Amino acid sequence: MFVYMDHTATTPVSPEVLNAMIPYFSDVFGNPSSVYSFSRKSRGAIEKARKQVADALNADTSEIFFTGSGTEADNWALKGTLEKGKIAGKNHIITTSIEHHAILHTCEYLKKVEGADITYLPVNSEGMVSVDDVRNAITDKTAIVSVMFANNEVGTIQPIKEIGALCRERKIPFHTDAVQGAAHLDIDVKAMNIDMLSMSAHKMYGPKGVGALYLRKGMRPENFIHGGAQEKGRRASTENLAGIVGFGEAFEILKGRLNEDKAINSSRRDRLIAGILERIPHAKLNGATGDNRLPNNINFSFIGVEGETLLLDLDAKGISASTGSACSSESLDPSHVLLALGLKHEMAHGSLRFTIGRLTTDEHIDYLLEVLPEIVARRRAMSPLWEDYLKSIGEK
Ligand SMILES: *Cc1c(COP(=O)(O)O)cnc(C)c1O
Repeated sequence: MFVYMDHTATTPVSPEVLNAMIPYFSDVFGNPSSVYSFSRKSRGAIEKARKQVADALNADTSEIFFTGSGTEADNWALKGTLEKGKIAGKNHIITTSIEHHAILHTCEYLKKVEGADITYLPVNSEGMVSVDDVRNAITDKTAIVSVMFANNEVGTIQPIKEIGALCRERKIPFHTDAVQGAAHLDIDVKAMNIDMLSMSAHKMYGPKGVGALYLRKGMRPENFIHGGAQEKGRRASTENLAGIVGFGEAFEILKGRLNEDKAINSSRRDRLIAGILERIPHAKLNGATGDNRLPNNINFSFIGVEGETLLLDLDAKGISASTGSACSSESLDPSHVLLALGLKHEMAHGSLRFTIGRLTTDEHIDYLLEVLPEIVARRRAMSPLWEDYLKSIGEK
């Protein structure tokens, strides 16, 4: 059995999306910037996709700019806004300690190269940022506040509307990395007071290598990719025509089934969480409960074992899961997100993330609940860490 439980790392392109994209590779292939009528079809397709993305967010089409990825949208928002802010003497960035590396590494770069001053806000044990902490961190040098919509590792959903209202009142540009949020939640950029928002198609059953940045009217970060006059002169390079068409289609389909997906995912999520807590002793759920958690996220720590080892054992049983984020799977450092939630290193090392989605079935949940307890028990039986833990709590 192939059980894909890593929908947060990426999703398959849905058949409807693929069908919509196919004509734009070799049939309708004209350069959208050319003047002849053949190219008008390509331009039209991009403008249709722009409307699909704008409608999904309650934005205007003039506020959507396609990029090469969610990472690029994050880089553009942060670098472009800080560069703009520096002209007015502002070089302070407020962000959180649980952001994706697309934000954190960009902040490190801005500190090193631009001398930016960075505040990394803490989170509580459920992974939630406090609006008061944002308020207290603001100074007259603050150029941008960037808080992710929903966390990719533990699924915690942040109080975006409230942070947005605060930033609006203080006239500070507010950016949110909504790569995960947009894939699962209803987002209304107007009602939520959002100035800039990053998205990515491959997290929502669209193709890899295409994203977008929402820039509210009046937001003018410096350009990030320089060259031709595409995207109204604000993001150069020949458009990823088929990719953009796929993104628009994927987002429209996602919006159409959002409530249905939310209901089925959250019921499977809760069944999996309850099943693990029931069958595996000393299992700890990481992140928030209920409405403050992404409907598809399950993240556990199993004291006494290494998450990496469990991943390999699961893989041998046909199950694809993750420890923390796929981007940190190359390094053996524990997840920065789990550490920010206050987990000890040994708990952070024993973590597993399961993210469900359209490929998930009820049988997959049953199968995982059948094999995971055995795997954890077998590894714990061989683990000196587990022995030490049992002694520490007086059970041995
Ligand atoms: C996947 C992801 C990104 C990066 O998006 P890409 O399109 O893969 O570059 C950024 N932020 C979050 C929260 C993500 O989950």
